[in-house]
Amino acid sequence: MIQLQDIHKYYAVGLNKLHVLKGIDMHIHEGEFVSIMGSSGSGKSTLLNILGILDDYDQGNYTLAGTQIKNLSAAKAAYYRNRFLGFVFQSFNLLSFKNAMENVALPLYYQKVGRRERNKLALEYLEMVGLKEWAEHSPNEMSGGQRQRVAIARALISQPKLILADEPTGALDTQTSYEVMDIFKEVNRKGMTVVIVTHENDIAAQTQRIIRLKDGLIVNDDHGMLEATEVEREILKR
Ligand code: ATP
Ligand code: MG
Repeated sequence: MIQLQDIHKYYAVGLNKLHVLKGIDMHIHEGEFVSIMGSSGSGKSTLLNILGILDDYDQGNYTLAGTQIKNLSAAKAAYYRNRFLGFVFQSFNLLSFKNAMENVALPLYYQKVGRRERNKLALEYLEMVGLKEWAEHSPNEMSGGQRQRVAIARALISQPKLILADEPTGALDTQTSYEVMDIFKEVNRKGMTVVIVTHENDIAAQTQRIIRLKDGLIVNDDHGMLEATEVEREILKR
């Protein structure tokens, strides 16, 4: 599904160029549940933003579901962002002047789905994340975990093939983090590809594969994490 070949990314800082990604090679197959780890500044968010077509890269090749992601037409970029990809951010990015249901329904508004159908689907997705009773509430009245679940419902409502989440549990306590991870596991079981960025070992241990970044390079890619993760889960339960 995702193929990165020798991806480089520079940021302009004053007159200098900061070399942030220094040749990333990465293949992620459909149905995988992957975490990207690495210390602050290692390039995790930069990489995720490139995967999500929110940012461009300077060198290399990115192929997403068979399409070369470079100089896409506006229509094609919009198609991928709105129909193919779902985003979840650490800070939730919800609209406080809209209630939970309206927030979840927002992507469908942009897809010109009628109001009645939008709200019906939004309620279904709120139910899926355990927040049906909160439909009429403003995000301001909700806890961090509840807000993150609203944000996840909003990311899922377009039925994306790929979910990208940047520190989705970063602002949450341990218990709530696990609840959020359970939702990702559930959608992954249903076939969705999930890529999360995290700096928490416990969170990464719940995914099938851990990719570690250091100074803009992949230093470790644990393909065979599935068994290890099961073992670790057992240990965590004790
Ligand atoms: P964190 O764990 O703190 O979120 P990260 O691994 O996500 O870190 P990035 O946000 O990808 O790191 O940033 C990588 C490097 O690029 C950092 O040195 C950062 O300061 C720099 N950087 C990020 N975005 C920009 C930008 N828009 N302009 C200039 N430099 C940037
Ligand atoms: Mg980051």
